[in-house]
Amino acid sequence: MYRVLSCLQDAHALLYVAIAVFVCTLGSVCALIVFHRGMESESETTRRLWACASGVVAGLGVWGTHFVAMLGYQPGFEIAFDGLVTVVSAGIAVTGFVATSQILISGFGPLRRGLCAIMATSTLAIMHFYGQSSLKASALMEYDPSYVAAAVLVSAAFFVLTYTLGLSTKKKWRNILGVVFTLLAVASVHFVGMTAMTVYPLRGLEDVSWVLTTGDVAKSIVGGVVLILSAALLAAGFDKKIYSLRARENRRISMLADSASEGIIIANAKGEVVEVNQAAEKLLGAERRVLLGQTALPLIGLSSQPAEGASFLGSTITNSDGVSIPIEVRMSHLTAEDEGAIIFAVKDLRERIRREAEIRTLAFNDQLSGLANREAFQRKLAASFAKNAGEHTAVILFDLDEFKDVNDQFGHDAGDSVIVETARRLVALTPEGGMAARLGGDEFALLTGPNVPVDRVSEFAAECVRALGLPVQLGEIAIRCGASAGAFLIEKDATDISELMKAADRALYAAKSDGRGNARLYDKELHERYEARRDVEVALSRAVENEEFVLHYQPKVCAMTRKVLSYEALIRWERPGHGLVMPNDFIDIAEQSMVVNDIGRWCIREACQEAARWEDHLSVSVNLSARQFLDPKLYGDVREALRQSGLAPNRLELEITETAIIHNVQVAANLLEKFKKLGVQIALDDFGTGYSSMRFVQQLPFDRIKIDKSFVLAMEDDAKSFAIVDAILRLGHSLSIPVVAEGVETEAQALRLLEAKCHEFQGFLFSRPLPMPAPLPILPIKDKERGAA
Ligand code: C2E
Ligand code: CA
Ligand code: CA
Repeated sequence: MYRVLSCLQDAHALLYVAIAVFVCTLGSVCALIVFHRGMESESETTRRLWACASGVVAGLGVWGTHFVAMLGYQPGFEIAFDGLVTVVSAGIAVTGFVATSQILISGFGPLRRGLCAIMATSTLAIMHFYGQSSLKASALMEYDPSYVAAAVLVSAAFFVLTYTLGLSTKKKWRNILGVVFTLLAVASVHFVGMTAMTVYPLRGLEDVSWVLTTGDVAKSIVGGVVLILSAALLAAGFDKKIYSLRARENRRISMLADSASEGIIIANAKGEVVEVNQAAEKLLGAERRVLLGQTALPLIGLSSQPAEGASFLGSTITNSDGVSIPIEVRMSHLTAEDEGAIIFAVKDLRERIRREAEIRTLAFNDQLSGLANREAFQRKLAASFAKNAGEHTAVILFDLDEFKDVNDQFGHDAGDSVIVETARRLVALTPEGGMAARLGGDEFALLTGPNVPVDRVSEFAAECVRALGLPVQLGEIAIRCGASAGAFLIEKDATDISELMKAADRALYAAKSDGRGNARLYDKELHERYEARRDVEVALSRAVENEEFVLHYQPKVCAMTRKVLSYEALIRWERPGHGLVMPNDFIDIAEQSMVVNDIGRWCIREACQEAARWEDHLSVSVNLSARQFLDPKLYGDVREALRQSGLAPNRLELEITETAIIHNVQVAANLLEKFKKLGVQIALDDFGTGYSSMRFVQQLPFDRIKIDKSFVLAMEDDAKSFAIVDAILRLGHSLSIPVVAEGVETEAQALRLLEAKCHEFQGFLFSRPLPMPAPLPILPIKDKERGAA
């Protein structure tokens, strides 16, 4: 030991020792950093390259240490180095450490660590003792074998520590220990090794071809080595920084990819999977490491490379649970820079398909009854048209007769139950190949399919009506709702769904007006009726403009004196080519469209103008249709007619029926109140035929009640009719409302009515409705006749 220390002290200038320690530390640190950098690389080639670099750095560091230490060796006589041996010894160091780090880069097992320690020691020893031979001096060198052995053993011990303790990716301090032990290993070989050497200065310098003196050149070499090591350190550090930036970037990209709901698979030009995201792992039911390297196309259920440009592909995959999953694959080819890689974005279509089905159900099914809805029904019809002929013989529409009453009386839940039960019955009635649907509200429809022969459709519809009309049992109560049906036979060349539905609807309407609980086929007669009706509609729409209407006037007389009190204006239509058309033949049709409002407006204006010419004690009555009564412009029209004609409001009477009131009692009450304020009189027409509501008579401000002519006409033969007439008259008396009897045709009727205390008469007995001014002379004649009688 003393020899070692003294060698250190005496023979080596301390500055060189310091430099040697610095170079060795620098070399080890550099080698470690570069090695760790290699460990982080994923590709095998890169790892090996970095390990190589680490070996070179370690070798150069160790050799540099040795060389500096040699330079610091001052034995007290002239020395020089053989350049070739020096270079070769550097080569030995580099080769040895490159081999060592190659072993280490593939794993840190104890065997590898041990092998590395042995290799490092051998490399160091060979380099040292061979390198020592470069020392050329005018002396003889001898080695003490025991020191040599000691040098090797101590260094081996330190290297074992270096390689067992000093390599850790996690603990920094262990790496520091590694550096320290390397330093000690190198130092021990060098200094113990140098101590093993005895130099005998004998002769002059040997003849060396390339001599390195301890002067500037050697120092430049040392400087060079330090420079190389520093450069390596910088490069590794710089690369580590870039690598960590890239790693962060990659982490972000993979986070982004993982957060995507679509499965993303990247394949290289050979079609092998090089990257997948989490969604793809989940979808394919396999982990990333299993998927990497597999051929991409079969994984996503595609057998061959899709044509260039085909970007969306439908496919099916079977996952690890054997579940087959419909998918959509979107492909994007990357540019040449990315070496022809392809990205497959794979979308699981199960949710979308499920949602589409749900929407389809919502769009084509009636929620309450579960039947097809109008849309689905019409589509089915259209599809059968497209397929051509024979699929269905008829379409039948159903309507529940008293559905509104069921709702009003028993509540909406009961109404819903009736709908559900009707749907159930309809499904049971639907023949094979047919279809039942709920078109909305209480409207249902049925397609018969091919099995109901044309000549049996009518009968079949009637059977359905009977079945639907059976009472619906709801707990304790049996609800009888009843249904009507309208059927239309589908012709072989039918194409127009809306015409077809309209025809069936007309048949239904006709069935309803025939009395409820009926089934009606849309036949020739119905067709002609509707054609005629349509003609009327068309002609009516132009009639006001063409001034085709006239008013006839029928007087209303005092029952006692038979003096004319007023005239009722009754409309007639001078329809070109049809003669004089009576109101019963067109008012209903006009009522179906807005034309009735125009006609009504014309009547009011015309009647007011006419009446303004009469003597002041004569008033005029104008009939209002139900629809016209609900026209918001009515009040304004009446006021305007009065203003224009100058007729006193109390000389105008409006006749309304209960039908007009029943639809909206409150609106009617308000309107009547307004007319009352204006001074216009109001009569309740056709009393006894409709609802005959005592409530209306009591609540609303009527100036007059008119008994319907049907009772007056039947009164003499029918005791019931007279009873009604009598009751209405009593009602009028008790409420102090004058009562008019319409349809007085005979003296006998007049007499009877007079006895029953009727105030006013109207009827053919006094005058038919006639154009003005014709009726004025009639009455005195009648009066005289009566007087004479
Ligand atoms: P209405 O208001 O009950 O009118 C009385 C109807 O009975 C008139 O028929 C009249 O000619 C008829 N009539 C009068 N006396 C007798 C009689 O002694 N025996 C018989 N058998 N009939 C008699 P018209 O003119 O055919 O009118 C029928 C209905 O048309 C009217 O019934 C009324 O509801 C409606 N109408 C008439 N003109 C108009 C109008 O300008 N506007 C509206 N909205 N409806 C009108
Ligand atoms: Ca009337
Ligand atoms: Ca009447």
